[in-house]
Amino acid sequence: MMLDKQILRIPGPTPIPPRVEHALGQPMIGHRNPQMGELHARLKPKLAKIFGTKKDVMILSSSGTGAMETAAVNLCKSGDEVIVVVTGAFGERFADICDAHGLTTYRLEMNWGTACTPEKLKAFLREHPSVKAVFMTYCETSTSVLNPIKELTDTVRSESDALVAVDGVSCIAGVEANMDDWGVDIYVTGSQKAFMLPPGLAFVAASERAREAFKKNDHSRFYFDLNKYAEKIENNSTPFTPPVSLLFGLDEALNMMMEEGLENVFKRHRLMSNMTRSAIEALGIPLLTENKYASPTVTAVKPEQVDAEKVRKILIQDFKIYVAGGPKHLKGKIFRIGHMGYCSPADVFEYIAALEVAFKKAGANIELGAGTKAAQEIFLNA
Ligand SMILES: *Cc1c(COP(=O)(O)O)cnc(C)c1O
Repeated sequence: MMLDKQILRIPGPTPIPPRVEHALGQPMIGHRNPQMGELHARLKPKLAKIFGTKKDVMILSSSGTGAMETAAVNLCKSGDEVIVVVTGAFGERFADICDAHGLTTYRLEMNWGTACTPEKLKAFLREHPSVKAVFMTYCETSTSVLNPIKELTDTVRSESDALVAVDGVSCIAGVEANMDDWGVDIYVTGSQKAFMLPPGLAFVAASERAREAFKKNDHSRFYFDLNKYAEKIENNSTPFTPPVSLLFGLDEALNMMMEEGLENVFKRHRLMSNMTRSAIEALGIPLLTENKYASPTVTAVKPEQVDAEKVRKILIQDFKIYVAGGPKHLKGKIFRIGHMGYCSPADVFEYIAALEVAFKKAGANIELGAGTKAAQEIFLNA
């Protein structure tokens, strides 16, 4: 077994393109040097495109969760009432963050594996008419559900003045964000998922309404006070020392996305999801979510005939292919394939063929090649 070749198909961290690896190794520069200002000036228009906003996107030194907490403490203060849409483990995390800061948190709980619908959110908003903000998850990585952010944001807008805060960590840069058009107030994401970067950077895009809320909010915070970041990024800077090497990498990762064309990036992700799902279905293995809720960036497989953990272990032992297990009560019941960022249809053929072997070895009654064939047909018909 070749020990060096790890094939990372977990929903983050994800593989890094050689071009980005190369960029990460550039010589260090001072974070107050003019070169840093030039770097921010190059990053800003590209980041703005990814988020679909005219405003400058703020960059934090943090993982995604830090950006989630940052959103909560900048929009709200202790005692504020908020709704958190909980479609899985990451929705729960958003709710736990709100609880930790003394917000009055109303959880709109959905069955794990389904998305929130506008009707459910509308009814819940009517039960809780004085909420300051609604927190939701775009791609619920724990179940591979994509929530309909446009429709949910429309619903909040038509029912209340609440701010809309969205965790887009595991899908932004792989799916459209359309911040300004959809009226989302704050999007947060991290670098290690669809952005093709190592962990360590987080991004926060904020609307004018959100910025007004930051200014008025006196909830205690210092390092992650977004007022500081908003002011500094206007002058192509950050309030504190950023992970400079990651910013070099970000510049190159964004160049790659711009060269491919964002529309094509989004199409590629949807295609990989369709190929993966058709392959698993053709093998007679159930998926956790229905097609209408399917995320373009991650797929949860629920192999009822065989142990999910056994399949996962065979993939590692025989092929060094890593997929993720199930979170919380889904542990041992599902595994999750990440197909985002630096991942192509050719990679889908690789993991589907390997999965067929793993299912067979685990004792599933499947027909070798049936999944690969289904994925090939989706590719040919795309
Ligand atoms: C990965 C992820 C996060 C953030 O996790 P970190 O480990 O803090 O980067 C948050 N939300 C979702 C939906 C995620 O997939």
